Amino acid sequence: MEDSARSEKGYDLVSLFSGGLDSILATRLMSEAGYSILAVKMLLPFYPGRFSKVVKQYFHKAAGCDVVELPVGEDYLELVRSPSFGYGKNANPCLDCRLYIYKKGWEVAESVGARGIITGEVVGQRPFSQRRDALVFLDKRSGIEGRILRPLTAGNLPETELESSGFVKREALLDIQGRGRSRQFELAKEFGIKDFLNPAGGCLLTDAGFARRVFALIESGNLNFLAIDIAKFGRMFKINNIILSVARDKRESDELDSIYNVEKEKNIGHIECLRYPGPSAVFLAPSGVSEKMLKLLSSIVVRFSPKLGGKGEVLLSVGGQDNVIFAAAADNATIEEHRI
Ligand code: SF4
Repeated sequence: MEDSARSEKGYDLVSLFSGGLDSILATRLMSEAGYSILAVKMLLPFYPGRFSKVVKQYFHKAAGCDVVELPVGEDYLELVRSPSFGYGKNANPCLDCRLYIYKKGWEVAESVGARGIITGEVVGQRPFSQRRDALVFLDKRSGIEGRILRPLTAGNLPETELESSGFVKREALLDIQGRGRSRQFELAKEFGIKDFLNPAGGCLLTDAGFARRVFALIESGNLNFLAIDIAKFGRMFKINNIILSVARDKRESDELDSIYNVEKEKNIGHIECLRYPGPSAVFLAPSGVSEKMLKLLSSIVVRFSPKLGGKGEVLLSVGGQDNVIFAAAADNATIEEHRI
């Protein structure tokens, strides 16, 4: 690369960095070839757990270059609700999602004077969004055709403007394709990369069980960032437009308790057993809850609290007010009717 071609602000390329092996390799490959890279970690909400300090440290170490974290907004949820190009096998709107990520990545690239964006995509690796024709289609629809470089698989794709202008030499790029990952593992060894996330990336929208939850949230008008966090834990129930999640173990109880403690000013309620240990539960009630509904929610929680022996008191907190409710365990038909 010619030094004169470098951006004055110091970054040549922006890497759309998922943290999976392919995105690490694409970033490293271009760094090794002498380009200064800024990695952008998009904080997509549909990944397991929450973005903790430890996870953050992992991303910064794995990228081996500067990293910025970029939260996504309501516009991302809107594309999940109604994707222009439809869903993949489950609730994954991959084509819309990729276009969104390219657009956001390009905004960062422009703001730091970078000439293009790079991704870890590989032709043929995923059935929906990484077919060759899908990648070519995405480039055309992105509005930045020629500026998206996929270093691991560029040899299988039309030449980009970044290459034809001489900014990136095609010899620096690879021609990996298909679902096999042996070349990626060899490359990882070459770069001394030992720790990396699951190659599939772990997007929960591709999981059939989680997809049911997402569609239930969409249907009930509850798809928001808080609901997505709650949907990652517990057994989930939908009663009209109310979503209830009942923890399956202590870890999930702790997670739900902590979500409630942080978010209790919002339209969220919390239920826990009194006197005997049992699961915590939270519910989202966008437009208020009737007494009858509170009783039903409590009865579902009692059903999963074996120590109560079928009935007992729960502490129900909603809108900052605590109430003690006596409830009998919901029967199997009620559980099955509302379980997602
Ligand atoms: S798998 Fe998930 S994160 Fe990846 S493109 Fe599809 S919807 Fe987006």
